[in-house]
Amino acid sequence: VSFELSEKHQALLNEARALALSVEFQAPIADESEHLDPIMYDALKKSGLAALCVPAAHGGRDEKIDSLAVTVVREGLMYVSGHLDTMFAMQGIGSFGLSVAGNPALQEEWLPRVASLEVLAGLALTEPDVGSDLKAITTTATPRGDTLIVNGKKAFITNAGAAGFYSVLCKEGEGYSLVLVPGDAPGLTTISGPRLIAPHIIGELHFEDVEVPATNRIGEPGRAFPLVLATLGTFRVSVAGAAVGLAQAALDEAVRHTNTREQFGQLLAEAGPIPHYLGTSWMELEMARALVYRAAARSAIDPRANLHWASMAKVAATEAAGRIADRSVQLLGRFGITDGSKVDRLYREARPMRIYEGGNEVLIGQLAKTLGKDYLSSVTTK
Ligand SMILES: Cc1cc2nc3c(=O)[nH]c(=O)nc-3n(C[C@H](O)[C@H](O)[C@H](O)COP(=O)(O)OP(=O)(O)OC[C@H]3O[C@@H](n4cnc5c(N)ncnc54)[C@H](O)[C@@H]3O)c2cc1C
Repeated sequence: VSFELSEKHQALLNEARALALSVEFQAPIADESEHLDPIMYDALKKSGLAALCVPAAHGGRDEKIDSLAVTVVREGLMYVSGHLDTMFAMQGIGSFGLSVAGNPALQEEWLPRVASLEVLAGLALTEPDVGSDLKAITTTATPRGDTLIVNGKKAFITNAGAAGFYSVLCKEGEGYSLVLVPGDAPGLTTISGPRLIAPHIIGELHFEDVEVPATNRIGEPGRAFPLVLATLGTFRVSVAGAAVGLAQAALDEAVRHTNTREQFGQLLAEAGPIPHYLGTSWMELEMARALVYRAAARSAIDPRANLHWASMAKVAATEAAGRIADRSVQLLGRFGITDGSKVDRLYREARPMRIYEGGNEVLIGQLAKTLGKDYLSSVTTK
C-alpha cells in the first residue's frame, strides 16, 4: 500500500506548478482581471495539459478522464494562479457531458479543440433565481422539427463571453436536457459581471429563441441529471485539489514572512501563539491533502460511486484553505491586507470555493443523507 502519489501523478503536479511559476511574472494582473489573459492562455495551450480533460478517443490524453490527474494539476496551477486553474478546469467541467453522451458528430466537432485549448468550454446551470436547487431552473429547450429552441437566462457562468460553447441545462417538457449552444449562436447574448471579490471571467447568458439542431442535445431527452452528476463525480474532487494548492501557497507565504521578520527582538515564527498558528496550518493542510488524494484516486476508479468521498474532500479542503489563508493574512499583519500582496489575493480566492460546485452546507446535508441510508444499514447489520 502506498499513500504517496505515483510517479506519473507527482510529475503532473510538478509540471503544472512549474508551468504556472514560469508565467506568473509575465502576467501580473491575470488574477485581478475579468478577461482571458493571453500569456497564460498560450502557456497552458502549449503545455498540452488540457488534454487531461478529454478522453483519448476525442483527442485527450487518458482513455478515461483521470480525476486524480486533474486534481493534482489543479493543485499545481492554483498554487500560483486562480486564472490558470479555472481555465484548465473548465475544459473538463464544460465538456464532460459531451464526452460521455454527445453524438459522435458533435463530439468530433468540439472535443479535439477542447483538448487542445483552441476553444474554451462553459457549463451553464445557475440562473438569476436558481442556485443550489437546480430542479427549479426555468430555461427551456423546446423541440421544433429537427431543432431545439432555447429560451431563458443563466447567471454566474464561468467563461461567459469567452467560451466557444456552453453545455446548457434546460427544462424539456417534464424532464431536463443538456443542450450544446455555440457561443456565437444567433439569439444568445452575454453580459459580463458582476465583478467578484476574486475577479473571474463570469457573466450572464441570455437565450432568446436560440435555435440549434436537435442533435445538439447531449444524451437522451429529459435525462440530463445523470450527466450533471457524472460531471460532478469526476470534477468536484478537483476543486479540493485546487484548495490544497491555494492553502500550500498561503502557508508558504506565512512561513517565509514569519521566519524573516523580527518584532520585540525575536522572529515572529517564535513569538507568542505564532508557532501554534503555523503548526496548525501545516497539520490542516496535510489532513486535507491526504483526504483529497484518497478521494481523487477513488473518483478516478468510479466517480459516481465515490461522489460522497469527493464531497467530503471538497468541504474539508475548501474549509481548511479558508482557515489557512485567514491565518496567513493575520501573520503578515498589514502586509497581508495590502492590495497586491499574494496572501490578500489567496484570502479572496479561497472564499468562493466554499460556494461553487456544491455549497458546503448542501454537500454536508447530502453526506448526512448517505449516512442515514447505505452506511446505517451497514452498521445495523454488523
Ligand atoms: C466563482 C464562481 C464561479 C461559478 N461558475 C459557475 C458556472 O460556470 N456555471 C454555473 O452554472 N454556475 C456557476 N457558479 C454558480 C454556483 O454554482 C452557485 O453559486 C452555487 O450553485 C450556489 O448557488 P447560490 O450561489 O445561488 O447559493 P444558494 O443556493 O442560494 O445558497 C446560499 C447558501 O445556502 C446554502 N444552502 C442552500 N440550500 C441549502 C439547503 N437545502 N440546506 C443547507 N444549506 C443550503 C448554500 O450552501 C449556500 O451557503 C459559480 C459561482 C462562483 C462563485
